[in-house]
Amino acid sequence: MKKRVTIAACLLALAAQAQAQEPKEPPKEPVEALRQRLAERLSTKGEGAATATAKSTAKPAAKPAPPAKAEAHKGEAKAAHWGYAGDLSPEHWAELAPDNKLCAVGTRQSPIDIREGIAVELEKISFDYRASNFSVLDNGHTVQVNVAPGNGLTVMGRRYELVQFHFHRPSEERVNGKQFDMVAHLVHKDEQGRLAVVAVLLERGPDNKPQPLVQAVWANLPLEKGEALPAQVQIDLNQLLPADRGYFTYMGSLTTPPCTEGVLWMVMRQPVALTAQQLGIFARLYPMNARPLQAGSGRLIKESLGSASGGP
Ligand SMILES: [Zn+2]
Repeated sequence: MKKRVTIAACLLALAAQAQAQEPKEPPKEPVEALRQRLAERLSTKGEGAATATAKSTAKPAAKPAPPAKAEAHKGEAKAAHWGYAGDLSPEHWAELAPDNKLCAVGTRQSPIDIREGIAVELEKISFDYRASNFSVLDNGHTVQVNVAPGNGLTVMGRRYELVQFHFHRPSEERVNGKQFDMVAHLVHKDEQGRLAVVAVLLERGPDNKPQPLVQAVWANLPLEKGEALPAQVQIDLNQLLPADRGYFTYMGSLTTPPCTEGVLWMVMRQPVALTAQQLGIFARLYPMNARPLQAGSGRLIKESLGSASGGP
């Protein structure tokens, strides 16, 4: 919340600055560029939420001032963009902005192919999800669901609050080489700004059993990009979790720019079923929004022993 306010305040200041310094520019252009910049900032918030550690959070928030003038120009504003194809594709992310350096040189990047994990008695993730208000945003990179405060999880003695969740097609992570139809990333953040992402793999199931939570999200898709649509119903994230609570865990990164590292990943082992129609709806919006696999670089992967059971 605070960060969003800070960004908004910065941008307002920048808007004023841009108008003061560049009176000759037609007013529409800088405003347009700033709006685009704001949209980018907020959507970067997407995967990153408030970008991992407090340290790295402070940076982008405090930084906008100097480069802003440049970004008011067309070409620069374009540089803030990123995507999954052509000049904006993942192999170019690091070139698109100085803050994206880790996308190219990081050694703790995500996604990875999850294999050869050590099977141990992993602590159960203690999910604390409840029926909540939500809004749905098409941020130009994915469909993102912002959930009202009060949801979270506890693992390794640390409480993380749910910030948002969103989808990728196909799944970014693989398990023993297998890629799934889609994945949902549930992004959580603790008080120190550390991120923990729960990945729920999604695959095609029976056509007569629509996944209830996904159904509620799709029903509330906004008609326009960049505008969060508050839903008139509630969702309960417990409905998206698989019955088997076994999971894989490893340390990785955001899978979108700026590819911040230090992210605790927990990938649920059992996939959840969507209908072909539900998969098809997302495919129409985002046929391909998955970052390619990154090097494991000798990272330790842990896996729940056997088939951990456990209700909500
Ligand atoms: Zn994601």
